[in-house]
Amino acid sequence: MIHISSQFDSGNIEIVAADSADAIRLRIAKDGAADFFQWFHFRVSGAKGVPLTLAIENAGAASYPKGWEDYRAVASTDRQHWGRVETEYDGTTLTIRHTPGADVVWFAYFAPYSLERHEDLMARAQARGVARAERLGATLDGRDLDLLTFGSGPKPLWVIARQHPGESMCGWFMEGLVDRLLDPYDPVSRALMAQATLHVVPNMNPDGVFRGHLRTNAGGANLNREWREPSLERSPEVFHVVQRMQATGVAMCLDAHGDEALPYNFIAGYEGVPDVTEAHLAPLARYKTELSRLTPDFQVEHGYPKPAPGQGNLTTSTGHIANTFRCAAMTLEMPFKDTANNPMPEVGWSPQRSAKLAGHCLEAMLVMIDDWEAGL
Ligand SMILES: [Zn+2]
Repeated sequence: MIHISSQFDSGNIEIVAADSADAIRLRIAKDGAADFFQWFHFRVSGAKGVPLTLAIENAGAASYPKGWEDYRAVASTDRQHWGRVETEYDGTTLTIRHTPGADVVWFAYFAPYSLERHEDLMARAQARGVARAERLGATLDGRDLDLLTFGSGPKPLWVIARQHPGESMCGWFMEGLVDRLLDPYDPVSRALMAQATLHVVPNMNPDGVFRGHLRTNAGGANLNREWREPSLERSPEVFHVVQRMQATGVAMCLDAHGDEALPYNFIAGYEGVPDVTEAHLAPLARYKTELSRLTPDFQVEHGYPKPAPGQGNLTTSTGHIANTFRCAAMTLEMPFKDTANNPMPEVGWSPQRSAKLAGHCLEAMLVMIDDWEAGL
């Protein structure tokens, strides 16, 4: 007997009808207090050897319908390996067809990175005695907002992720980043920690992650539009991070995201901040170049259009931080689909590839350590 559920950490689906395995009808639930939706994550029980046809009927009304074009959902029976499965989009409905090899199978928009796994990462980081683990404050649901601090060098570098909880590749990216920094034999990590202090927020939105949201926190706030005036009532996650940034200073901030539509890794910068100068933009250009030299998974050709000076959005982390500290602040976008310039069709963009990219991001940070400055 087929059964579908999503009542678990980072789960999200609504069941319209699940009487017949070849005509399962589903809908993606909206974020709790906002209209965004695209993230789905659910399990099907009793499905071993059964050809499943799962129709997500409201896909065409999702927040980023272009995300469904040339897209394939992921499925797993061990929750370790997530393979791509047959997926078709007709402009309205997203239909997934898959015959699982085990009784219970999990489906998701991208390999999930649960809040429980975040807790494991925090525990691992502090157990090694390399990172300092600290609770910055509470979310609206009363969850813990966590900071990891690595090293003691003079450059204050920040890496944050998962303001948008449905961008789960950012969880894997941060796991790769943290594990690389925890490796006592890694020369890049050792040198970085000698020359910089790395302030790392692996999960900016624990409530959204646990609730299975796409884009907002428990109160419906899109955290990456809250940086100009964060408040304890609406966006405590950003409020606490901004307070700490004011205390540490910021010489560089990298904010990890996922883009639903574009099949590339790319960086969006701060060309739009008021009175931006060539000197201010120089570390952005160099970082993109260094990173593209280190890994063919990153490229500089495709990305968002660059806003004119003064036309940028100062409510985002990147806009706010670049404008406030006059330093480099960057939004790294990873794909949900794959990298069209360097594809791996069986898995698409994946947890492992996200983790590798994080390591290359650290290498590029070290290569140009002297370039990271505030007050540019
Ligand atoms: Zn995002």
